[in-house]
Amino acid sequence: METMEQHPVRVAIVGTGNVGATTAYALLLTGAAAEIILIDGNRERAEGEAMDLNHGMPYMHPARVVAGDYDACAGADIVIITAGVAGRPDESRLDLLARNAAVFKEIVPQIVRYARNAILLVATNPVDVMTDVTWKVSGLPAARVIGSGTILDSARFRFLLGRQFGVEPRSVHAYIIGEHGDSQVPVWSLANIAGMNLDDFCRLNGCGLDPETKIEIAKNTRVAAYEIIRRKRATYYAIAAGLGRIIEAIMHTQDSVLTVSSLVQGMYGLQDVCLSLPTVVNRQGISRVLELPLDEGERSALTKSAQVIHDAISSLNL
Ligand code: NAD
Repeated sequence: METMEQHPVRVAIVGTGNVGATTAYALLLTGAAAEIILIDGNRERAEGEAMDLNHGMPYMHPARVVAGDYDACAGADIVIITAGVAGRPDESRLDLLARNAAVFKEIVPQIVRYARNAILLVATNPVDVMTDVTWKVSGLPAARVIGSGTILDSARFRFLLGRQFGVEPRSVHAYIIGEHGDSQVPVWSLANIAGMNLDDFCRLNGCGLDPETKIEIAKNTRVAAYEIIRRKRATYYAIAAGLGRIIEAIMHTQDSVLTVSSLVQGMYGLQDVCLSLPTVVNRQGISRVLELPLDEGERSALTKSAQVIHDAISSLNL
């Protein structure tokens, strides 16, 4: 694997349930890591996942996969945190907050004790709040604490738009910003295919996008997790692919623009809140957050979304 790093890429995953284990699998399929350390409160689970993953090694990119304790994080480039409890079908992500904040106060100090130089990549929900908790508890610079944020929601949005217009999702450029949750904001005004906004695309290419369809696509993006959890109890393939994409951007210093969650200070009049905006990601972690020419409705929806996260953060009294 080509990387700017001199040493093998070492990724630790704390929480080897559905999301953690699937992320390890995704990393092995793409060869994004040479060493994967699996850590879980349930040590046997981590060991079982390491065994299962190792047995696929003849058909994947060679890597060292081991289960370990927190001291095994030493020297990790990236520590992915997916420990916690998954949402119930009737539970909003913010309802998960108190349960997962307690878990993080236990695990984050142990991670930074051994991996002071790592970038921490958080996926546990509610991910924006957990990103803030991780930043505060870790004491690390904000640039090195990244939440998966709306990387998944933007992927869902692009998938649905691609299906609507008959182009593959990678050719659709569209972002969900704000909270990874119910108050997320689809940025319709900047969505584009082949450099054309969706109105121009439809006008010139013989298709339509009526207001009802837009509402439907935004809703299907927003409620996707609930719909999947109702059917199969958890979501993990798409988030694992998204986490893999973030790791690739970090380790290859790609300067990729991704909707990840990070501490926002001052942009759009927002202060002290972790949320997702298109962000340049590289070996430093968060390189810079991009300002967008949002329309008035999008800007006001972003402010409301930030308030939802801010209220949740404040309720924790960290
Ligand atoms: P899971 O229950 O399968 O796995 C969670 C793992 O965390 C378990 O193996 C458990 O033993 C471990 N764990 C719990 N407490 C721990 C502790 N104190 N120390 C170490 N390990 C501990 O859950 P999952 O389906 O993998 O989901 C994990 C998290 O990811 C949830 O919060 C879920 O909501 C979230 N998630 C986020 C996204 C996203 O887009 N950010 C997408 C899907 C799921």
